Amino acid sequence: MARVAIVTGGTRGIGEAISLALQDRGHKVVASYAGNDEKAKAFTDKTGIPAYKWDVGDHEATLEGVARVAEEVGPVDIVVNNAGITRDGVLHKMSFEDWNEVMRINLGGCFNMAKATFPGMRERKWGRIVNIGSINGQAGQYGQVNYAAAKSGIHGFTKALAQEGAKYGVTVNAIAPGYIDTDMVAAVPAPVLEKIVAKIPVGRLGHAYEIARGVAFLCSENAEFVTGSTLSINGGQHMY
Ligand code: NDP
Repeated sequence: MARVAIVTGGTRGIGEAISLALQDRGHKVVASYAGNDEKAKAFTDKTGIPAYKWDVGDHEATLEGVARVAEEVGPVDIVVNNAGITRDGVLHKMSFEDWNEVMRINLGGCFNMAKATFPGMRERKWGRIVNIGSINGQAGQYGQVNYAAAKSGIHGFTKALAQEGAKYGVTVNAIAPGYIDTDMVAAVPAPVLEKIVAKIPVGRLGHAYEIARGVAFLCSENAEFVTGSTLSINGGQHMY
């Protein structure tokens, strides 16, 4: 059945692959983005998927953005909370602003999107929320107290909201990607990246479409008994 799906940060990187995977499965997809208009336009021209601009870390802007999508496309049944940023630095050099901004967007964005969409899903007795966490939220990472805390928070948020949605046909799951070949990882210095790849048993970075396939499964009708889970897609880098 075709559903209306919002993929936050859905215009590039992992989000772009998720938008395409959901479109491929027949859903009416909307991609949100933060400010890269040029990339968003190129994405819409290529895929036909509309792109809506708002900051998911801004509560009011998110409520307004989702209301606009509901009016123009339809009530939202699938949400993929994929938008995320990094502001890396060791703690003694990290500013409060870098801490706050990562928490506001990466974790606050999930809350804001859920506030805007979960009540409707609950009323209609069907919904799928997939939150994109990270291997670094599971295992921690040097120089990323802000990012690791926000991503770890996403895993807790997922399990708590899953309990609230379970009786109403709304599943809430997380995916914890390992290192995926996107702009975010391109920003990691080459020598650091080499050391990271050496620790991945599969021996390479992941591809965005490998995350997207997992998301598509969790958003499907077939995944109705899967809730509160975290699917690690990381080439075997972190097993537990
Ligand atoms: P990219 O940096 O390639 O893309 C980020 C996307 O998020 C862009 O579309 C960007 O919009 C959007 N975005 C950023 N901030 C906001 C905001 N405030 N409001 C709305 N949209 C926003 O990221 P990746 O594809 O690499 O990562 C996607 C997700 O996967 C993130 O949550 C990341 O933490 C997670 N992840 C990534 C890993 C990796 O190896 N790449 C590993 C583990 C997790 P715009 O284009 O306008 O800037």
